[in-house]
Amino acid sequence: MIDLLVAGGGPAGLATAVHAARAGLETVVVERRCGPIDKACGEGLMPHSVRHLHELGVDAEGRAFRGIRYLDGRRVAEARFSGEAGRGVRRTVLHAALSDAAAAAGVKVVQGEVGAVHQDSTSVSAAGFQARYLAAADGLHSPIRRSLGLAEDNGPRRRWGIRRHVRIAPWSDCVEVYWARDGDASEAYVTPVADDCVGVAILTSARGRFEQHLEKFPALADRIRACPHGTDRAAGPLRQKVRRRTAGRVLLVGDAAGYIDALTGEGMGLAFGAAELLVGCVLADRPGDYDRQWRALTRRYRFLTAALLYGSGFRPVRAGITPAAAALPVVFSAVVNALGQ
Ligand SMILES: Cc1cc2nc3c(=O)[nH]c(=O)nc-3n(C[C@H](O)[C@H](O)[C@H](O)COP(=O)(O)OP(=O)(O)OC[C@H]3O[C@@H](n4cnc5c(N)ncnc54)[C@H](O)[C@@H]3O)c2cc1C
Repeated sequence: MIDLLVAGGGPAGLATAVHAARAGLETVVVERRCGPIDKACGEGLMPHSVRHLHELGVDAEGRAFRGIRYLDGRRVAEARFSGEAGRGVRRTVLHAALSDAAAAAGVKVVQGEVGAVHQDSTSVSAAGFQARYLAAADGLHSPIRRSLGLAEDNGPRRRWGIRRHVRIAPWSDCVEVYWARDGDASEAYVTPVADDCVGVAILTSARGRFEQHLEKFPALADRIRACPHGTDRAAGPLRQKVRRRTAGRVLLVGDAAGYIDALTGEGMGLAFGAAELLVGCVLADRPGDYDRQWRALTRRYRFLTAALLYGSGFRPVRAGITPAAAALPVVFSAVVNALGQ
């Protein structure tokens, strides 16, 4: 019997596996896709996410960003990080770097489907492995979460994300957030990820192709129109409510543990933080402590992201976000640093 089986080899699964293996646990990751794995993502690692990676000994190549800039076509508001910079890192680069760290730590990665999970009072079995614990890091629509009855109704408001890379030298040292002024609630996020590349991720509640959504942001559309564009990747619905994060010997981590929205770009940092907590609970043989620790870790993010998402759903509030951020730079900076540092 191994110590920890990890379902899913995305950022959450690999970070969990590295922490576990470094702590002396025999750890196996089962991932259905071959690497390096890409995914719809803004690819902005906030300063605390970069710090988590450094603690894992991972230094993924990318492009530094020093703050967040809001633009709504009329106003611009900018908040700089008070400490270290964040980093834009392509998901394929991040996956390769985390995979190297996992291999160096002695993690075994197996390609395959996790499938059904069975557990009793002493062990959990899946994908042909028997383990003391299972970390479900199987993403936003976690089949394991669903099979254990841990998923809740997500409510009527649905948002999706589409990401595309554009070959152009980054023109800003911030992650830019363009707020659509009219029509549906959409935002475009531009993250510098290399010296000749930016990622453009559009979050929206409307269906449609990338080009259709891009036209809601005329200044951005004009700037990137003539540049070579990559292929699109989409994800959603983004909101995933979860009853609790443990069921017996199964612990949920990363997006599988619940997700609100990509609006504040926190997903990977929270996944890395939760990975460390999960391993601590496994080492202590106290899986029941994990849910409380996860809630404490994510409280600030859940509050700020839910508040911003709720407010931005009302047209007058939404129209006032960038002007308010520009008029109250100290408050804007405090919010950005509360989320980022
Ligand atoms: C549009 C968009 C923009 C975003 N922008 C940012 C950002 O700028 N910064 C940030 O920090 N976060 C951002 N996020 C969030 C971030 O992408 C996620 O939080 C992060 O990917 C979570 O990692 P994960 O490992 O939990 O899930 P995933 O990355 O989805 O990995 C899950 C893995 O599990 C595997 N898997 C699933 N089921 C099975 C199975 N049955 N058997 C085997 N393998 C399985 C999948 O193949 C996948 O590789 C964004 C998300 C979206 C959608």
